[in-house]
Amino acid sequence: NRQIRLARRPVGELQPEDWAHVTEPAEAPGEGRFAGRTRYISLDPAMRGWLDDRPSYLPPVGLGEVMRAGSVIEVTESDHPGFRPGDHVVGTFGVQEYVISDGRGTLKVDPARAPLSTYLGALGMPGMTAYFGLLDVGALKEGETVVVSGAAGAVGSLVGQIAKIKGCRVIGIAGGPDKCAVLTDELGFDAAIDYRAEDVRKALRTHAPDGIDVYFDNVGGEILEAALGRLAMRARVVICGAISQYNNETAVHGPANYLSLLVRRARMEGFVVFDYSARYGEAAREIAGWIAEGRIKVLEHVVKGGVDDFPATLGMLFRGENTGKLVLDLT
Ligand code: NDP
Repeated sequence: NRQIRLARRPVGELQPEDWAHVTEPAEAPGEGRFAGRTRYISLDPAMRGWLDDRPSYLPPVGLGEVMRAGSVIEVTESDHPGFRPGDHVVGTFGVQEYVISDGRGTLKVDPARAPLSTYLGALGMPGMTAYFGLLDVGALKEGETVVVSGAAGAVGSLVGQIAKIKGCRVIGIAGGPDKCAVLTDELGFDAAIDYRAEDVRKALRTHAPDGIDVYFDNVGGEILEAALGRLAMRARVVICGAISQYNNETAVHGPANYLSLLVRRARMEGFVVFDYSARYGEAAREIAGWIAEGRIKVLEHVVKGGVDDFPATLGMLFRGENTGKLVLDLT
């Protein structure tokens, strides 16, 4: 069983030496468990945070442990009454080729209803994050102006499309002309801002002349600062993530402009998607409906490879080399 384990705690950007590539014997599942072969592994910006030894919403990955990751597996052998060989299951199974599980915290999925990778993207954690972050935390209302950063990513691309379905004006912020073209030409965003080439403050003045009602932040840093300077009255700032800060060797750079919340009677609120787990079914059904109706286009960036390609593939997120949900395809 080929596995990727955490060899040392990274400092700043991830290095190949942070990981150990090991092979362990594959064991039989044993009573009440099933064994499976990994098909798709999810790569998530949050993984960077899980490697730091500091308190967070989950304990850090321990030194020497198999790297934590969501994945879709195919059951190969089962001594569990609820799972049969051939079943496909989503769970936090880690970066390894073979998995043994007692089934707790897992979900059976149907490849006839959606491609397996989509259960890690639009119908998985990023989909849930976009849905509850925008509609629940962001309390979005029809006709509002929505700005989303990381807009061509897994979460951002869904946030923008859901906001369009809800009758909003949507402005996406992403890196590079190709990603911006995807947003406006393929996903129906009203405008896109290339933060690498444009002055984001100025562009927001142009595209959101009446201010931003909901700012959905995936990146933090300077882009958050620019958005705070453009809030409409009673705006909601949704703190989903801050990928621009995850590799910092020093403290997170927070917004200097927070008093705009006072002036605009706005609120800024963070959330963790896991708190919505009881309602995932509701969100997945609605998103699946929008996909079937052609109102949501699923963006996936699929890298073919093995578990040994995990470290290099994870690095793509921090260089902006993915458009849509990044997954490693082991099939
Ligand atoms: P994405 O698919 O959006 O991939 C990450 C993207 O971030 C890259 O493609 C890149 O796009 C952008 N990026 C990387 N570095 C920078 C930088 N320095 N400045 C600005 N943009 C940068 O990932 P996800 O959709 O999976 O995650 C998006 C965010 O949502 C993350 O912050 C993640 O931590 C958060 N998240 C939060 C959850 C929660 O429960 N709160 C749950 C799931 C995700 P570009 O080319 O445009 O720079």
